[in-house]
Order: sequence, then C-alpha cells, then structure tokens
Amino acid sequence: MKYVSTRGQSEPVSFVDACLTGLAPDGGLYVPEAWPQIEPARPDETYVDVATRVLSTFAGESLSEEDVRGLCERAYGTFSHHSVTPLSQCGPNTFIMELHHGPTLAFKDVAMQFIGQLYDLVLGRRGQRMSVVCATSGDTGGAAAAAFAGASSVDLFILHPHERVSPVQRLFMTTTGADNIHNLAVTGDFDDCQSLVKAMFADKAFAAEVSLSGVNSINWARIAAQAVYYATAQAAIGPNRPIRFVVPSGNMGDAFAGYVAARCGLLAGFELVCAVNENKTLATLLSDGLMQREQAVATPSPAMDISVPSNFERLLFEVSGRDGDTVRRTYDQYRQSGSTILPESVRGPLGCTGFSSAVIDNGATLEEMREFKQQTGELICPHTAVGTAAERRLPKTDATTVILSTAHAAKFPETVLEATGDEASLPKRCTELLERGEVFDRVENDLKLIKDRIRGQVTAEA
Ligand SMILES: *Cc1c(COP(=O)(O)O)cnc(C)c1O
Repeated sequence: MKYVSTRGQSEPVSFVDACLTGLAPDGGLYVPEAWPQIEPARPDETYVDVATRVLSTFAGESLSEEDVRGLCERAYGTFSHHSVTPLSQCGPNTFIMELHHGPTLAFKDVAMQFIGQLYDLVLGRRGQRMSVVCATSGDTGGAAAAAFAGASSVDLFILHPHERVSPVQRLFMTTTGADNIHNLAVTGDFDDCQSLVKAMFADKAFAAEVSLSGVNSINWARIAAQAVYYATAQAAIGPNRPIRFVVPSGNMGDAFAGYVAARCGLLAGFELVCAVNENKTLATLLSDGLMQREQAVATPSPAMDISVPSNFERLLFEVSGRDGDTVRRTYDQYRQSGSTILPESVRGPLGCTGFSSAVIDNGATLEEMREFKQQTGELICPHTAVGTAAERRLPKTDATTVILSTAHAAKFPETVLEATGDEASLPKRCTELLERGEVFDRVENDLKLIKDRIRGQVTAEA
C-alpha cells in the first residue's frame, strides 16, 4: 500500500517512508491511496492482536506481520492496564475510554510508543541515524521522551517554552536519564518553539545534514496507531451497536483516527463530536466552513489550545473527492490572508461526514470536574472534562456514548485542586520521577544557536 499527499504533487511513498518523513515534500499530509477494508475487532482478541491486524494492513508490504506484532508487543507492554485502553462506565449507556495508562499518562503515548519502536527497528536495519525534533506545549514532549529514551538510532530534541509547561509535564521530559534525549527550554512561548521547528524543516540543507524527522500530530503513524482503540471500543460495546464518540480535540489527530477506523470498516457507524475549549476555530470550521487564523488563548486544557487544527487537511482532502488542487488552493488562500471560506462543493459533503462539534468554556470545564467528582467519585483531567461536559449538553441518543479520556488527572494537579479541592496524586509507578534529577538546557529563541547545538550533538556522535 502506498501513501499519497493531500496536495497531490508528491510521489507516492511506502508506509515506513511516510512515517519517517512526516510532512510530504509538497507541504501536504500523507494518506493511504485507498482505504483498506479491515475485519472489525472481536471481543476475544487482545489489544495487541487488533493493533497488529490494523497496523500491518496500513504497513502493507513495507513491514511483515511478524515485525508489526513485535512492535505492538513492545509498545503496549509499557501500559499499566492489561486492556491498554479500557472502558469504564460513567452513566447509563455512557462510557469513558481511558487512554491514559501509558508511561506519561496521556493518550499521546498510544501512538508515540509505537513510533519509538518503529523508528528503532527500521533505522537499525537501515544502519541510519535520525534527529527527531519536536515542539511541545506539554504532553507530546514527554511521550516522545519516553518513547525514544535509549533508542540507539535516534537523537530526540524537545523544544518546550521555558516556565510555561506544568511541573509534572516537564518532569516527564527531563528525567529520562537517557543521553539521546535533549531538552531545550526556549525563552518564549509554544508558538516560538513551533516556529523554530518549522524553520529547521524549511532549511533543506540543515534538514539533510542532520537527517531531520518529525513526530508531531500530522505524522501518519500517529493516526494509524490511534485508529486501533476505536476498533477495540466497538468490540467491547458490541459489534452492531452504534457509538457516538466524544473526543476532546486540538489538532484533530485523535478525532481523525476515528474517521479512519470508520472508513476501514472497523465501526458499526460513525458519529463523532469534537469537544473543544474556548479556542473554537475547529467548531467554526465544521459548522460554518470558515477557516480563520486566531490567536490561541490560554485555557485550563492547554493541550487543546490550538487555532486551525492541522489534521483538518486530511478531512478536507476526503470531502473534496480527494482533489489535491482544492486542498492546495484552500491552504494557499488561508496562508495569504489568514482566513478562507471552504468552497461550496466541499461544505455539503463536510456536513455528511458524521463530525460535529461542541464548545465548552473555561468556567464550565472547572464546574464539570467538580460535578464529575461528585457523581462518580473520580477525578478527571481538564481535557477529559471538556469531553464529559460536551456529552451532558448533547441531545439524547439511542447510541452508546464513549468519551475519550485523554490524560490522567494527576498530570494537571494544579487545575484539579482548583476545581475540586482534591489532590490528584501520581500513580505509584510514576512517583520516582519526582526524585530523579532534571536535565534541560536554557536556550534563547535563536534559530542559529539552536541549529548549532543540534549539529554539534549529531557530529559528536558520528
Ligand atoms: C494532544 C491532546 C489533546 C488533543 O488531541 P488532538 O489529537 O490534537 O486533537 C487532548 N487532550 C490531551 C490531554 C492531549 O495531550
């Protein structure tokens, strides 16, 4: 199976190359050339069984099924729950899917653990070394650090905004003790970190010199790995039962994975509500077809403080009838003017995809954390609360509702304390984090300095 670019001007590539590259050379995102049909998950299959079937289908001829099984066994063996992404009931016909049992307590681990194993296997076989660079507002950096710590073929450079990530988030990045993980605390905000990373990729000579690679939310491997838990949720609820998924959303990687699961025949139907915080560009996009750049504002759910979601491009490609020209024109116009109305020809189909959205403001998010605690005795993280608050406001349905819990409450103890008055304590397996020494370097927001550091690191090891 080959992967094509959403902007239609790059050569098709294999699964492995799509995952190692991230962005296509024409600036588009990779998608399978056609949606494969995959047998739905069965209740007697383990998570690793389902992940192996789904991911070896996406890998096509670029990896053997045996290779993929090995990757999945190692990736999901790090989760603290034997079901990997268990469901727990929180109301009549309503469930929470817990995606936070990985090493860094957020759903990013589900895909990142797989990616770490994938890079290790493929680069090891090719005798190649890569520099993975990522900008993080909190969760991605930790998940990447846990996934690549000790990997012999990868140097990971994490750029986080100095003093703007929560202490627990920072500990997950800075205490791995692995000498291939390099933490750079940048004087600036998340947008500054992201601009630095984009500029590094745009410098083709530099990118080639250090074998630059990216694992941000547009990497196809992340979408593919996330499609698996939608399939296991369907198996757990019952093969023919319609499910309404409610997904706390930022860049829409998690939500788009649900769409992928549906297109590949893994779901009985497809209804998905993207729950967003006060950064509601995604909601405007889905309801009015207006794509508008807006300054992201800080909320209690920082991992969702995103303006235009990067994975929307994949959905636009689908609803345009896989027309790279429409996608390219739309993004060109958006880049030039900061805003564009989607063409009439795609707005109709967009309304029929099964996607909708709900907006939850900051006050309602904290109120929900309190109310959820009162009703169930459980603490939830502020991102998950955006999802459960959205669910309360949805019209009643006969479908079973599954809300995705995207992080553990203990990852955001300050907000949990403010909302509920309770201390959210870290699970025992994470408490040694607090005792280990942190390693990170303060750097100025200066592209040349940071590139020199990366170069220096890479040549020192060559
Ligand atoms: C990344 C993240 C999200 C948003 O996921 P997207 O795939 O970007 O939509 C939501 N919650 C948490 C805790 C996250 O880390």
